[in-house]
Amino acid sequence: MSQILHRSLTGRLPTVVHAEGIHVRDSDGKTYIDACGGAAVSCLGHGHPRLREALLAQLDTVAYMHTGFFTSEAAEALASRLVADAPAGMSHAMVLNSGSEAVEASLKMARQYHVERGEPQRRHIIARRQSYHGNTLGALATGGNAGRRKLHTPILIETHHIDPCFAYRYQQENESDLDYAARAARQLEDKILELGTDSVMAFVAETVVGATAGVVPPVGDYFRRVREICDRYGVLLILDEVMCGMGRTGTLHACEQEGISADIQVLAKGLGGGYQPVSAVLVSSKVHDAFLRGSGAFVHGQTYMGHPMAAAAALAVQQVVTEDNLLENSRLRGAEMMSALQSRFANSPYIGDIRGRGLFIGLELVQDRLSKLPFDPGMALASRLKAGAMKNGLMIYPGSGTIDGKAGDHILLAPPYIVTSEEVGEIVSRLGDTVDQVLADG
Ligand code: PLP
Repeated sequence: MSQILHRSLTGRLPTVVHAEGIHVRDSDGKTYIDACGGAAVSCLGHGHPRLREALLAQLDTVAYMHTGFFTSEAAEALASRLVADAPAGMSHAMVLNSGSEAVEASLKMARQYHVERGEPQRRHIIARRQSYHGNTLGALATGGNAGRRKLHTPILIETHHIDPCFAYRYQQENESDLDYAARAARQLEDKILELGTDSVMAFVAETVVGATAGVVPPVGDYFRRVREICDRYGVLLILDEVMCGMGRTGTLHACEQEGISADIQVLAKGLGGGYQPVSAVLVSSKVHDAFLRGSGAFVHGQTYMGHPMAAAAALAVQQVVTEDNLLENSRLRGAEMMSALQSRFANSPYIGDIRGRGLFIGLELVQDRLSKLPFDPGMALASRLKAGAMKNGLMIYPGSGTIDGKAGDHILLAPPYIVTSEEVGEIVSRLGDTVDQVLADG
């Protein structure tokens, strides 16, 4: 009997005993292809020799040091690298340990920015429905997934949500991408006007929505418009690239493809590829200068921030991504996976939409393509697909509540950037079998 308080108190999880590249083996000797990097984390796959080397070297140097006493070469090198590769305007980086913590820090930064500038009345956070920003209370309150928020609603801080830019569900027939983008972005302006133009502190959005809506890229000039609206009303733009960032969409930052920079940007997952729990907040000079001219400090701190082992892992992952040209592999293999999925499911009535960028792909399941009607949530389709895939030796990351937090199911694919064309073919073949088997069972 396990004494871990697992995510689910019923059922039995297999025990992993080895993982190498994109392959995972359990204690029964069964093997799996990791087609989702866990939760879009393992961007280099498992057991990468360069990471072993980097972590052992850091262990021999210094494993932990409190950032109130010392800085470390590892954390300094990571911050320099992140800022050098950052979108325009970013001047500093804060190294933390999880996506949720980094989102919390970004919210506190936004709040302090306005206080330092003499606008303490700015307190409202606007985010989007069907987004996920983490599970700590501030991050959970910011996220717009009704299902995940439900239990804790009475203890969540007040936040405000607008619709996501979600073409498959919200774009009208005969509405161009540009018209739809304008309509979706207008909701932000309307919300700012409703709350009071001098009372909003930040707009928070995933550049490409990940886990809760099943990989939803923006359309048209949505984010350019969002950027303009934020600037017009003095609202800080926080982009959450915890899942979609660090190469997952084929460029280092997903916002590069939108032609904009945030004021604060949050990174995790692919930053350290799972070799250490590590996240980061990229801070623009605009925000940093406000702190410098104001109190001279960011009023925040955590025991494990700037952790040397975490920083060493993240730096090594970023070096491998560059040296092995893995952004290009993310683009090329991603395009192959997209077209293989499109042909495999061309005649399937149940796959309503296949969307994504790079090696970040979502498939939305429907009862039939024309009506786009979701399956009954009582069918628990997402968890049945996950179980079916595991049976077939395939790790996928499905989700439910795709449409509104309750209805809708999707499958998220996010294989390591080292995936080969042959492995892409195998992933699509096992996924095709899984979908056929699970839906044939009714
Ligand atoms: N933000 C996004 C977009 C995420 O996908 C996640 C996790 O899935 C988080 C924040 C929270 O990250 P973590 O689980 O590391 O706390």
